[in-house]
Amino acid sequence: MTKDYYKILDIPEFSTTEDIKNAYRKLARKWHPDVAGNSDEVIARFKDINEAYEILSDKVKKANYDKARKFYNYSASDRSTQTKTYNTNTTNPNHNNYKETYHTKENDKKTSFWEDIFKSHKHDEIKSPKRGEDIYSDVEISVFEAVNGTEKVINMLQTQICPNCGGRKFVNGNKCSHCKGKGEISAYKRFKVKIPAGIKHLSKIRLAEEGEKGQNGGRNGDLYLTIHIREPKNYKTDGLNILKTIQIQPTDAVLGGEVTVATLIGNVSLKISPNTKNGQKIRLSGCGIKQNNKVGDMIVTVEIQIPQDLSEEEISLYRKLRQLRERGVSN
Ligand SMILES: [Zn+2]
Repeated sequence: MTKDYYKILDIPEFSTTEDIKNAYRKLARKWHPDVAGNSDEVIARFKDINEAYEILSDKVKKANYDKARKFYNYSASDRSTQTKTYNTNTTNPNHNNYKETYHTKENDKKTSFWEDIFKSHKHDEIKSPKRGEDIYSDVEISVFEAVNGTEKVINMLQTQICPNCGGRKFVNGNKCSHCKGKGEISAYKRFKVKIPAGIKHLSKIRLAEEGEKGQNGGRNGDLYLTIHIREPKNYKTDGLNILKTIQIQPTDAVLGGEVTVATLIGNVSLKISPNTKNGQKIRLSGCGIKQNNKVGDMIVTVEIQIPQDLSEEEISLYRKLRQLRERGVSN
């Protein structure tokens, strides 16, 4: 036994079923390759998390695992003392003999562990049908994909019948090497998911029976995908309209001017009329989101920005402006 499933799920040994499930869901979401990327490290981590949950969520498997773990921890400390002895006796002519004995011992341990797990599987077979677990995952889409609808390809790690032994656990009387006698393997399944146009943030899409495999003829679990609409950085949307705020100089607000605005169809030159007020809205028609034959507008809100880096000369001109203003008001 090489993996500490409790460590993998980051939970104490005496966690409740609910705690185990919560820890699993949190980590599975975080380390899902669709979210965390497709690096080898992420995939390995995600596999470990699923494997840990598969064992710890099953009463019988967990009991066997706990037993094997205790035994392993005990023999691991035992082993370290042996290694020490070995290191201080590097010239020992029995060196090779010792190594061999050690490995055989290790193999024995492994076999007995797998036999324990294996027994628990056999035990499962005489039980009544058990429905597979539901799987939860997240899919992130852009605002435009949400408006127009889209199709996403996602990869989900699932328990599948071992293709080598067909779930029989043995091949020609030997334990199947592909699934190590479990009869099933964890493998990725590709899904093409249709996301309908107009979908809302945090909507759920259910793929019936695409969750974990049912046992003993039980129904498969379902796969639930939560849709996350990415919040755009520089604008908001309202239906097909795009809402954007731009900053203009006080001089442009007073005298009028021209500013460049980035839209979906490229940069557009926006005319600021003289005497534009703070918060004033300007509509750029046809610069919104296109859907079917309709197209929205871009609605630009003008924000007058006070420059923070005024030169001495500008400040003196502002003083002059104030004097002129005060004189004008008193007249
Ligand atoms: Zn197999």
